[in-house]
Amino acid sequence: MKAISVGEGYGRVNLIGEHLDYNGGCVLPLQIKNSIICELSESSEINCVSIISDKYQKKLSIEKLEKRNDWADFIIGSCLFFGEKYSIVIKELSFNISSTLPLGIGLSSSAAITVSTLKALNNFYKTNMSGDELIDLAYDIENSFVGVGGGIMDQFVSVLGNHNQALYLNTLSRSYELVNIFDDHNFLIIDSNTERILSSSEFNQKKELCLSAAKKMNLKNLCEKEMINENDIQLLSGEEIKVCRHVVEENKRVKKAVQLLKDNNPKEFGKLMTESHSSLSEHYGVSTDELNTLVNLSNSFGALGSKLTGAGFGGAVVTLVKNDKVEEFKKLILENYNKAKFV
Ligand code: ADP
Ligand code: MG
Repeated sequence: MKAISVGEGYGRVNLIGEHLDYNGGCVLPLQIKNSIICELSESSEINCVSIISDKYQKKLSIEKLEKRNDWADFIIGSCLFFGEKYSIVIKELSFNISSTLPLGIGLSSSAAITVSTLKALNNFYKTNMSGDELIDLAYDIENSFVGVGGGIMDQFVSVLGNHNQALYLNTLSRSYELVNIFDDHNFLIIDSNTERILSSSEFNQKKELCLSAAKKMNLKNLCEKEMINENDIQLLSGEEIKVCRHVVEENKRVKKAVQLLKDNNPKEFGKLMTESHSSLSEHYGVSTDELNTLVNLSNSFGALGSKLTGAGFGGAVVTLVKNDKVEEFKKLILENYNKAKFV
């Protein structure tokens, strides 16, 4: 059936500032060209919503819009939350999802599918939803309906970012600035092609540690802290100290990284990426052997710096490579880590 409304949601690669968006910190994601497209058309199935995705085999015909605990929850949640916001009962529509964005590797396909669906609904019903409203609604769907989710970063950059400028976002105040990326260097994304074991429970455990540490130090958000002192160490458990070290130092790295981007200093920027990775691996405990291998290989093949991107536990690495070295670099990586896939 002919699409009558279309929405597109972009993925992102986070250049630095991991696990900060739920700690009130600053982040630096870049919107990427890979995206998810949602095509909406009228459905002939009475009282049903039908959903199909090129990433899954089966077309779903859903009579009652409620949580199913599978991928369709992003669409169902969009229908319910959008419907509630605009007092519309959504039925007899077909959602056709197609994607060039790898799913579940830390490039934010979850925000992209939600944003694409909400944009399609907004176009269809001519509801004039603003960018901010779209960000908030997509965030609520992922956090309150689907049930896993960090902060506001992924939705924000999908809606307000672009492919040539990194988005420097303060996740607490929501103030942001778009900063040009390097002309003569490229951020490459390498999928480690290992199953990502981001169970919601592991992610939530890290989040809980941050919350409990903040509470013990009488803070609303961990990123209010500039450094961890002896007093803090007395208050905190060993695990809490480790996550705090990452969060506090990572937040400072983001601020330095933004300045280095503005100063056109890829060499020092790259160093911060690798420092960020080491901290994610050693302090935050979210890297894997494969991600560490890819970071080390990339740096040994001439990258200026590399790190895991997204929440970790498998998934992808982002690495900074000079433009004229890209082809040689890709060849070397594929020869030495043959499962790797460049996104
Ligand atoms: P990430 O956001 O890093 O890609 P998440 O685990 O947060 O990883 O989200 C991945 C989930 O989003 C998938 O398991 C699936 O439920 C949903 N999803 C993403 N892309 C698609 C798609 N093209 N079709 C259907 N569901 C998708
Ligand atoms: Mg996600």
